[in-house]
Amino acid sequence: MTKKIFSIIGDPIAHSLSPIMHNYWFEKYKINAEYNLLKIREDEIKNVIDKIKNGKISGVNVTLPYKKSVIKYLSKTVNDATETHSVNTIMLDEKKEVIGENTDVFGFQAAFLKSFSTPEKKNKKVLILGAGGVAPSIILAFLKSNISNISLSNRTYDRALFIKRKFQKINLIKWTNISQELHKFDILVNATSVGLKGNQEFNDDFSSFTKNSIFIDTIYNPPQTKLIKYFKNKNIKTFNGLNMLIYQGQKSFYLWNKINPEVDDQLIKLLEKEINI
Ligand code: NDP
Repeated sequence: MTKKIFSIIGDPIAHSLSPIMHNYWFEKYKINAEYNLLKIREDEIKNVIDKIKNGKISGVNVTLPYKKSVIKYLSKTVNDATETHSVNTIMLDEKKEVIGENTDVFGFQAAFLKSFSTPEKKNKKVLILGAGGVAPSIILAFLKSNISNISLSNRTYDRALFIKRKFQKINLIKWTNISQELHKFDILVNATSVGLKGNQEFNDDFSSFTKNSIFIDTIYNPPQTKLIKYFKNKNIKTFNGLNMLIYQGQKSFYLWNKINPEVDDQLIKLLEKEINI
């Protein structure tokens, strides 16, 4: 049988841990397949979709900056991808149509929200920083987990306004008001690229975020951002983005191979080694 090919498309892409994860699972479940990095320009997306149509590529993950722009090349989007207008997983359906799905929503829920009990969830107030490609997936993950008191803040206010058009019940907070408003929230999510390896760091005052709160950083490289270290020192519960990455990958793998791969210690060690934990 010929080897199946899977890829992740994006630019930049070199940092992606997805090949390590999927190739680990292919080996574990004895699937004759390979998962590669495909750094492409936007004008090369159509070519990749054509390869899915003619069976040369069996499935694709999509990362920054194409999660939205890829949609126009697909036959349709389904489920969470339709709700968020954000696609991170592509494959052929049974009618041989190229469809786009979103597994970031599941990834965020499985990583962070499954463990909250129902009464606990009901009263949680959430502040999400960032209105980029991943923000709609995080909003939908909270809504699906019955956490609906959601505020959003973004450096560029218009991008936050754009998201509010889709999710009308969210509140918007001005970027310059974060420090004053922070004490009102139970969960703070960093969904910006501030703190990513090599990027700028936050210089805002986060001291009013109180000790029974939770801080979730979607960043996993570095595993401990400056903000995670700061909140840890204040005994605030913190999470990085590694589990989100793993669980979105788990669902993509299931959609392509109809096997729900195990998230075992060996995989976690392999990924942690890559990001030097
Ligand atoms: P985008 O490039 O689409 O958006 C970037 C966001 O960061 C925007 O809100 C942008 O604000 C903000 N930002 C960038 N630089 C600054 C700055 N100097 N000051 C303030 N805000 C800034 O990226 P994504 O939405 O796709 O990803 C956002 C984060 O989520 C990244 O860190 C990424 O690593 C992480 N992520 C993690 C995943 C996981 O599985 N763990 C999955 C997907 C994403 P503005 O609009 O003003 O430019």
